[in-house]
Amino acid sequence: LRTGLAPGPHELTVEADMAYSRTGEGMHRFTDPADGETYLYTQLFLDDARRVFAAFDQPDLKAHFDLTVTAPPHWTVLANGTTTHHGDGRWTAATTPLISPYLVAVAAGPWHTVRTDHRGLPFGIHCRRSLAPHLDADATELLSTTTALFDRYHEKFDEPYPFDSYDQAFVPEFNAGAMENPGLVTFRDSYVFRSAVTDAERCSRAVTIAHEMAHMWFGDLVTLTWWDDIWLNESFAEYMGYQTVAEATRWTHVWTDFAAGRKDWGYDADQRPTTHPVAPDPEAVPDTASALLNFDGISYAKGAAALRQLTAWLGEKDFLAGINRHFTRHRFGNATLADFLDNLASATDRDVHTWAAAWLRTSGVDTLTAHAT
Ligand SMILES: [Zn+2]
Repeated sequence: LRTGLAPGPHELTVEADMAYSRTGEGMHRFTDPADGETYLYTQLFLDDARRVFAAFDQPDLKAHFDLTVTAPPHWTVLANGTTTHHGDGRWTAATTPLISPYLVAVAAGPWHTVRTDHRGLPFGIHCRRSLAPHLDADATELLSTTTALFDRYHEKFDEPYPFDSYDQAFVPEFNAGAMENPGLVTFRDSYVFRSAVTDAERCSRAVTIAHEMAHMWFGDLVTLTWWDDIWLNESFAEYMGYQTVAEATRWTHVWTDFAAGRKDWGYDADQRPTTHPVAPDPEAVPDTASALLNFDGISYAKGAAALRQLTAWLGEKDFLAGINRHFTRHRFGNATLADFLDNLASATDRDVHTWAAAWLRTSGVDTLTAHAT
């Protein structure tokens, strides 16, 4: 090589002007037709960090991120860490702990905000100004659900919440349901209800809040090493989200909703010619495009049902002991399905690896046959 580079650490500076997005990938820019106000937010999952900043964009290449933003003076800037306004629309965000590039987040605009403090941390909910009365009408329910779930996770998990704030932003034109950015969860803003809704819709919103919060530990604190384990990330958050809503909120019946309204998504996918095991062969996921090829009701609902079955079989005490070992061993790092199974196995006498081979590495629904004697 003729670069003249000396061995040792170096600093690379990249100056770039990047385009805003209108597809929800990268830094999305939206102007509200109701009042002409503009809002920006990032969505970097799964490999869209490169649309916003230069990065070696792999989940196992974690870094501390510093963010400086210059915005119009009447805007508020939200980010993973708490943000500080230095005047004239200049903002900085607290340096993040080690996180993966796909989890970096910023959301900026003239947000309408409701804030509270909980366990010494700032909590906020945010939406565009034109939805303010609707967010205000539900703020008590949203914040009390959030704090109840937060407390319940602290009873289950040994590791304290790993970030310095908990903001939930209801953002316009969001493609998915929500995204678990550390300290700044983004939700589609149809979750800010604008008319009367059923209690099932309120329950479903609570499950989404709980699902994203579970990712703060499983996904953000401990992150998949590679995208072949994306199903485990989602199935864990799915299982833990339903379970914690059942334990900590008024929707104690929520597993019935899962059985009647969610699991059929997995049964359906599992009976098609395109079915696949819950856990793919790592060889089958050589790149990011193939990671989402088989990402369906098997990855979320069947996987969550399997983890629920595993918890019932191990007993919740041993399951949580294994999970807590997993968090402690890999905090601010990365882990694989093999690490997950090893940590569970270390907390029980039961053969977790044989269970995984039977339930996670096979495809298709099971047939029960009665033999009467
Ligand atoms: Zn998720």
